[in-house]
Amino acid sequence: GTTSTSGTPSRADQRQGFPEIDILWISEGLSCDGDTVSLTAADQPAIEDVVLGLIPGLPKVNLYNKVLSPTLGGEEFLAPYRAAARGESPNPFILVIEGSIPNQDIIEGDGYWTSFGNDLETGEPLTLNWWLDHLAPKAWAVVAAGTCATYGGIHAMAGNPTGAMGLADYLGWDFKSTGGLPIVNVPGCPIQPENFMETLTWVLYHAAGAAPPPPLDANLRPQWLFGRTVHEGCDRAGYYEQGNFAREYNSPKCQVKVGCWGPVVNCNVPKRGWMAGIGGCPNVGGICIGCTMPGFPDTFMPFMDEPSGGSLSPMLIKPYGAVIRRLRGITNMAVNREPRWRHRGSELTSGYDP
Ligand code: SF4
Ligand code: SF4
Ligand code: SF4
Repeated sequence: GTTSTSGTPSRADQRQGFPEIDILWISEGLSCDGDTVSLTAADQPAIEDVVLGLIPGLPKVNLYNKVLSPTLGGEEFLAPYRAAARGESPNPFILVIEGSIPNQDIIEGDGYWTSFGNDLETGEPLTLNWWLDHLAPKAWAVVAAGTCATYGGIHAMAGNPTGAMGLADYLGWDFKSTGGLPIVNVPGCPIQPENFMETLTWVLYHAAGAAPPPPLDANLRPQWLFGRTVHEGCDRAGYYEQGNFAREYNSPKCQVKVGCWGPVVNCNVPKRGWMAGIGGCPNVGGICIGCTMPGFPDTFMPFMDEPSGGSLSPMLIKPYGAVIRRLRGITNMAVNREPRWRHRGSELTSGYDP
């Protein structure tokens, strides 16, 4: 049984692992390829370390990704995807989807929103939807990379013409892969590099038979990455507590009045940083626009306005924060003074009692 998402290792989760596994990555959803690009910045672990077999205990990993492919493209690149669609994949595979899924049913006639290779008989483009219909039922695990693939993201905002949706909206929120896993969602626009690599590595250890399935929340996000809010990890939270708010962007203070949604957004980026621990939106002056969230972007727009309903808690914190700030100022002066017994002269005033 590998269907548990509780994350608690149990005897039932222990089983024979795979020595080799393929990753079939498709970014032909409505996508900007930004998640693949972001992924290349990871170093704990780096994707290179995973594909070179430098991480102890993982299966041998064959990565197929358009942007990172050493092939010249065309049929050579498509071969493993075609084999998998025919059910002739030599190894179990993890299907990674980047980009949102258009609603192909709302096109009248022969049009298409996406294409990934052509049908070899008719020469017509094969849509992402076609690939999903053929690959998802055969995949050992299915992973959504980025907010477009997880929940729809930018392309799925109100007024869009494509009917775009996230992977779970397309395959079903109760979808289970052949490995018994739900869809694993790693949102972010783009993914924080290590968030994705850590999740992928957990899935690979599970494939090796060495770890339970990754624990996921109700939105299928890894619990250990998305269980806390931006606010809880923000460098500027001290300013918030003291009711000290930025009125413009060129300020080190809390940015809630200039549009930061951090208090209600699940994301670890302020704690983790973006690359090699550096950055992390509000830490470096970027308001949190909720890019990891299922409601992104509509719920958080217009981005530069103060969050709706976000004025109550800053309003309440304002008088409290002002008092705290004053008291802290007094304490700060006290702790910035040396004790009075450190002086020259013949008298010892340290309180020494022989
Ligand atoms: Fe690009 Fe963001 Fe969509 Fe990823 S989630 S494909 S980075 S728009
Ligand atoms: Fe919270 Fe945003 Fe202020 Fe940081 S900048 S303390 S996340 S409201
Ligand atoms: Fe996105 Fe906010 Fe996290 Fe930045 S802090 S990555 S804007 S959710």
